[in-house]
Amino acid sequence: MTERRSAVGVRRCGRPLRRSASYECPSVHRTGPDEADRTDGQVVFPARRGRSAPPGGLTGGMSGRQLIVLGTASQAPTRHRHHNSYAVRWDDQLVLFDPGEGTQRQAILAGIAIARLTAVCITHFHGDHCLGLPGVIQRRALDNRSSGDGREPEPLPVIFPAEGEVYFDRLRTATIFHDTSRAVPRPVPAGTPERPAAPPGVVAELGPSARISAAPLSHRVPTLGYRIDEPDGRRLDPALLARCGVAGPDVGRLVAQGWLDTPTGRVTVDEVSRPRPGQSLAVVMDTAPCEGAEELARGVDLLVCESTFLHRDLELAQRFRHMTALQAATLASRAGARRLVLTHFSARYDDPELFAREAATAHSDVVVAHDLLTVDVPPRRSS
Ligand SMILES: [Zn+2]
Ligand SMILES: [Zn+2]
Repeated sequence: MTERRSAVGVRRCGRPLRRSASYECPSVHRTGPDEADRTDGQVVFPARRGRSAPPGGLTGGMSGRQLIVLGTASQAPTRHRHHNSYAVRWDDQLVLFDPGEGTQRQAILAGIAIARLTAVCITHFHGDHCLGLPGVIQRRALDNRSSGDGREPEPLPVIFPAEGEVYFDRLRTATIFHDTSRAVPRPVPAGTPERPAAPPGVVAELGPSARISAAPLSHRVPTLGYRIDEPDGRRLDPALLARCGVAGPDVGRLVAQGWLDTPTGRVTVDEVSRPRPGQSLAVVMDTAPCEGAEELARGVDLLVCESTFLHRDLELAQRFRHMTALQAATLASRAGARRLVLTHFSARYDDPELFAREAATAHSDVVVAHDLLTVDVPPRRSS
């Protein structure tokens, strides 16, 4: 609501706020010491590469952030479920997590263009999480060759546990093709289940509103979970603007330079804006409950979590280092995750309602995923 009011306020002043990259975000990318001095370290700046950006981390409208579930099966596809696979739209970013077998076709059905992917994250190299990678890379190469606009295609970072690099290499070169994919391997140490690596923290910055971090999970093989964070920012407050007598084109000037001299004195962006918490989303696949999972899930708006088993099969979950629906919901609840999406189901169950009921005993906002489901990231927390 506040966002809408801000947008209206700014539009009224003749300077529409752009929706994503330009005004949203970062707390660390400053355009220079001048702004830092001016704003006393309070205002957060957009991280626009290659040019200076206005201070403010300000936003004007709802952004497009959602999870698109491409598949939900663990281990082997079934008649009703493809191998698990997830795409996340996050403003102008499109991140693919764990492309299991069939991802290329599921992406077509979901309206996801492989050519538009901006990153791929692989949690580990069990087949249900990566057998679709050859198809994704080869499709990317094909699209790059046929785009015909003469521009150099964008690189595609592929982030994965470093201990599995040999599998990445095999998948990438699985068949004959002309590799114009511009896939860039980004191996990140995960350690072993017994000796997890130190949490690597931020592993990729995808523009100003999507920072990807990783943490080791506790599966049977080296595994990473991931998290996307939008850094905290600020939003303009029309009432404060009015109180300071800033209107019309002056709003644009204030945003552009971080301050404005008015007849009653200097006004800074801080004085006419309020903190705006960043949004976040975590992907926790194939793990027993562990510290890394909690760290990733802490305070996220949307947690996508494996729940291979029901709790009646806890012994199996423990043996294969997976989670039950109850464990996933407990994790979400303890970590303060707002909405929980359950996925990666064992083929032994055919009633999704059982997962919903079990998880509902520990968390109030649970979505049981099915193939091609889209889940919005919940509206921003109020500051
Ligand atoms: Zn799996
Ligand atoms: Zn696995």
